[in-house]
Amino acid sequence: MTARHRSRRRELVESIAQGAVLLSDEDQLLAINDAARELLAIPVEARVRSGADVLIHPELAGAVADVRDTGEPMTLEIDHAEARLRVNVSMLRDEVLVLIIDRTEEHRVEQLRRDFVVNASHELKTPVTGIQALTEALAVVAQQQPERVPELVARLGDEAARLAELVHDLLDLRRLEERGPSDRERVDLAELVRRVVAAQVDRADESVVELSVEAPVEVPFVGGRGDLEVVVRNLVRNAITYNRPGGTVVVALRVVPHVQGEPQIELVVTDSGMGIAPAELPRIFERFYRVDPARSRHTGGTGLGLAIVRHAVEQIGGSIEVASRLGEGTSFTVRLPAERSA
Ligand code: ADP
Repeated sequence: MTARHRSRRRELVESIAQGAVLLSDEDQLLAINDAARELLAIPVEARVRSGADVLIHPELAGAVADVRDTGEPMTLEIDHAEARLRVNVSMLRDEVLVLIIDRTEEHRVEQLRRDFVVNASHELKTPVTGIQALTEALAVVAQQQPERVPELVARLGDEAARLAELVHDLLDLRRLEERGPSDRERVDLAELVRRVVAAQVDRADESVVELSVEAPVEVPFVGGRGDLEVVVRNLVRNAITYNRPGGTVVVALRVVPHVQGEPQIELVVTDSGMGIAPAELPRIFERFYRVDPARSRHTGGTGLGLAIVRHAVEQIGGSIEVASRLGEGTSFTVRLPAERSA
């Protein structure tokens, strides 16, 4: 091959947007572009001369050998240096061209979707199986021990309620994910918070938890009413559920001067409950994550509440933070953007 040929080859490989590697029939490295170096995680200072120096992944090296033997192009996916790569290997006359695309992000999303379907089916199975078993038991008990019918009907009602809550949360999450950002409606946040909190008073009384709101008379805001309600309802519900008898929940809404001088709205839900261990904190916003799955069988949580809250906050253009001390309590802070406040 002439020097001119070689430099034309190199130019061609370098002009390709994806990762590209060109090898001679004797496995000499004819050209490699920056994208390929990066995707294959080859240090800049590394001296690479042959295919064996760059195609370190055994499957990839095997594919190159196969393509050399058969002349048939091949596409494969490999996990390499924390990335998911799709690699296409083909012959270009007697040389081997390796094209590499980074599919890490798509792969992660596909994996999340698959996990979601598996988890959702698994979660749905528990109440459905319960309802089936209780229905069968009810038929027998109605004949033989009619006095036990009310007890079984009550349990049936609990399982049905659990199923309904789960389906409701799943639909909320799907709706949030598929829809774009929130509507822009005028909302009085102070009124909304007071109303949503008032609807939780019975739940708080049942748990012997004192519930209070600290808010200005009016806090005008422009954003999706439904999303705001979902955020407040879920945070307050958790603050009551993961509390202790005699505990408190304080919902504080305030307008704070932002660093740039623009006002920012802060919603802080603080409880005096069980708290969350530092190791668990990063995971609580994940779908289906529950700190104590055995306990949540009684409290009736779906593990979706905070995933829904986080999505809704993002749709409104805000952010959420959590601070907690095990055994002392937890505080969730939602910040809403200044440019959205009316
Ligand atoms: P769930 O439906 O189980 O409540 P969430 O997504 O709302 O699911 O919350 C996830 C987990 O985070 C809960 O199972 C609970 O263990 C923990 N958690 C949420 N809020 C609080 C809180 N205020 N105090 C203590 N733990 C909480």
